[in-house]
Amino acid sequence: MSEDAKKNMHWSEIIAEEVLGTREPPYVVMSGITTSGPLHPGTLCEFMFADAVYKSLKKKTKDAKYVFVADILDAFDNVPEPFKKYEEELKPHLGKPLAHTPDPEGCHKSFADHFLSEAENAMEKFGASPQILRADQTYASGKYDEYAREFSERKEEIKKIVQESSLRESMPEDWHPIMPICEQCGKVATTRILNYENGEYEYACDKDAKYAKGCGYRGKAKIGDHKYKLLWRLDWPARQVFMGTKAEGGSVDHHTKGGSVSTLYAIHRKFFKREPPIMYKFGFLKYKGKKYSKSKGIGHSMQELMELLPIPVLEYALLRPDIQEDKELVLDESTLLPLITDFEHAASLDQDSELARADRKKAVAYSLCGKKEWSAPLTDVLLNYAIYKDWEKVGELLEDKEGAAYLSKYVNSWLERGWIPDKYVFNLGEGGSPQNPALLRKFAESLREGMGEDEVQAAAFDTAKGEGIPPKELFRDAYTVLIGKPMGPRLGKFIRIAGISRIKGMLLEGAE
Ligand SMILES: [Zn+2]
Ligand SMILES: [Zn+2]
Repeated sequence: MSEDAKKNMHWSEIIAEEVLGTREPPYVVMSGITTSGPLHPGTLCEFMFADAVYKSLKKKTKDAKYVFVADILDAFDNVPEPFKKYEEELKPHLGKPLAHTPDPEGCHKSFADHFLSEAENAMEKFGASPQILRADQTYASGKYDEYAREFSERKEEIKKIVQESSLRESMPEDWHPIMPICEQCGKVATTRILNYENGEYEYACDKDAKYAKGCGYRGKAKIGDHKYKLLWRLDWPARQVFMGTKAEGGSVDHHTKGGSVSTLYAIHRKFFKREPPIMYKFGFLKYKGKKYSKSKGIGHSMQELMELLPIPVLEYALLRPDIQEDKELVLDESTLLPLITDFEHAASLDQDSELARADRKKAVAYSLCGKKEWSAPLTDVLLNYAIYKDWEKVGELLEDKEGAAYLSKYVNSWLERGWIPDKYVFNLGEGGSPQNPALLRKFAESLREGMGEDEVQAAAFDTAKGEGIPPKELFRDAYTVLIGKPMGPRLGKFIRIAGISRIKGMLLEGAE
């Protein structure tokens, strides 16, 4: 594909083309998370980006699949915020796989399931429907066994690959590909292999993982018992091989020098002697230049984002920028209206027609999102609401009852936060006195029922010019009388929506 052709393409199309051009079907797109706590905006990126690649592949081939891995055999290493009240109850389970830790609220069969189900609900809301692959089931089914064996039997070789690719000076003496799950205490974070031979191993549960201590047990097990997991850097490439992964994303921190992607490439090429999948990189989600961080309280919470933005707009905000860029996701009075206006613009484009480069990318980004649920432009909705303060009336006037009802809860929360531009926030009729009442009266008298918004606008200009006065003075007086502000929405449109006779009356009264 030429560089020039790429310039017209959305990033998800570029990745899809590369997969189609260089890999064999089936085209499996993979993504995944460890469900160790509540969903946060960064998790959204994990599944939204893969979903975008998958959807772009699907436009070109029937042979595409999206698999989302829940890494729930990972150790439970920290009590997340919403579960702090259960800290005492949960503490004894630190160090166990998340899938073997109880759900303190009792609504799911494990701690991992509690948050996995939250992630699954979110995926559904965001229009992603991957096949979910649970690490506990994958291990239990024996899928990893041959890799655990191979890694263990060629331990020195794989150890060297990991060391070199991760730029480590040295490796622990007792380094081993397998992390046994202790038969006595159930922990996975505190065990180490003592010796391994032909699929059988001895282990000790005596490590100090800081958040958990081993119980001191020594035991024996077989790979075939499925009471283990692989080290993360080995688990990843093994899974990619048996799942036939053709594309998988990773955030910038996985793609650093010596990062997990370096090890992944090295294991595919040097150990498995095969080409790795296409590993695309995505930037961080940022809030005013700082990386989103729940623990540091940087960025919007998931709940806040859901309250403040229609889901399709949130999807669009994440999918529109280039994938490798860091994405600023800041909602406030300066970003909200431009984002929604751009979303409305993208929704109006036809991606199959001749479009300018930037518009084509916007149209494709929009095609990957949920649909816009309202028809009139938001600015018209805001203006109508400012005038009538009645959502039902707004819906009637704009001939979009459902759209107005859908937007109402968002607009109300934006108004509460002061995010709506001043010109859409006023009380009609709560005005002041004009500086030039004679001019205002003349303009009011020129208004007649049935005039269009452009005619009203022209009448204002003509009246002022006819008197040799700069039109902006007349506009200032009109807004002062009508809404008590020196400026407002485009006057012609405003008067037309509020009703010509009604406004005429108000202006004449104000000009007395
Ligand atoms: Zn639960
Ligand atoms: Zn133990």
